[in-house]
Amino acid sequence: MKILYVDQTGQLGGGELAILPWLRAHPEGAHVVLFEDGPFRPLIEECGIPVDVFTLDTLKGVRRESGVRSILSALPAFASLRGRLARLAAGFDLLYANSQKAFLLAALSKRRGQPLIWHLRDILTAEHFSPILRKLAVFAGNRYASVIIANSHATAESFVAAGGLRHKVRVVHDGIDPRPFDSITPEAIAVLRKEIGSESSPMIGIFGRLSPWKGQHILLEAISAIPGAHAVLIGDALFGESVYAEGLKLRANQPDIAGRVHFLGFRRDIPALMQAMDIIVHASTSPEPFGLVIVEGMLARKPVIATRAGGAIEIIQEGESGMLVTPGSISELRTAIERLLSDPAATERLSRDGRRRAEMFSLEALFQGISTVIGEFKSRD
Ligand code: UDP
Repeated sequence: MKILYVDQTGQLGGGELAILPWLRAHPEGAHVVLFEDGPFRPLIEECGIPVDVFTLDTLKGVRRESGVRSILSALPAFASLRGRLARLAAGFDLLYANSQKAFLLAALSKRRGQPLIWHLRDILTAEHFSPILRKLAVFAGNRYASVIIANSHATAESFVAAGGLRHKVRVVHDGIDPRPFDSITPEAIAVLRKEIGSESSPMIGIFGRLSPWKGQHILLEAISAIPGAHAVLIGDALFGESVYAEGLKLRANQPDIAGRVHFLGFRRDIPALMQAMDIIVHASTSPEPFGLVIVEGMLARKPVIATRAGGAIEIIQEGESGMLVTPGSISELRTAIERLLSDPAATERLSRDGRRRAEMFSLEALFQGISTVIGEFKSRD
């Protein structure tokens, strides 16, 4: 089956990292279109999959929070991109959109009757999307998507609550390969802790792009009242959120936490870095669509504290395989960190049970879910 995958970005965001193992395992008949070049492209090409980059800078102006004016101003760019995509798409049996912008473009570019799968990786609530983009996404999803794969029940329910058709939605949780988390040596961990520069202090890691709703600022406030605790921030400002990143750096220089905050930027050695931490925190202030970093932290056999919303509550069973705190609550996060630092037995138990739980979010289950959806169209050929 010839499948054209479409993704709006060449950056390595969660959506791109989540689909990569599937592409790696299913290169035959696959072709990818990106609307922006970046480190994602060579990783797809390494799988033996051809990639086209259809760049149009004006599209970058359309963001999740965009209103009518910026959407209208991007229409000519959309039209030209649509033409190129339609010409390419005509030769494929199935279109597979891995992001929202990609879905909207694919919906406008597909031939009549050509199946289109939308892998929905966003929570369609007012916190994440402007009303106009939400309406557009739901209208197009109902009308043009053959099937919508939602990466969590939270994502699926947000689509339905915004007016989306439930019968189109299949929930397929993201999956992660546990093996890279099992091959890290104690020496490698020691080297990393030395590199970070606070070998003997407790290190609290927060993984993910630097963005206000990812809540890195909440962690900085929480550690300010925990003497000796260090915060390690892994990730960069990927999608134009550099003002927030600058703000974090200014905050990190203030006397109460100066020398206790480490910015490592975007890294590719996530399994090793996770194992170098004492605790892993996920501090998103609005519901996380899935939360790959939560599962990764659990696979690394580390105690994970996440915020009680979205995909996080589908991953963590509170108090058993991890801890959950109220989104945005500095005091609850501080208390949870203090509890783990002072109770090695609880930490050990959470880490062990967290690993067992995280193994449920396997690549096998992910592949099975995607294959079943694609299989619906094979049988219709
Ligand atoms: N990640 C990475 N390098 C970094 C920071 C994050 O490779 O420096 C990865 C992280 O391991 C995870 C993904 O980026 O696999 C983030 O996915 P998540 O679902 O947590 O958040 P999203 O980016 O989709 O909002």
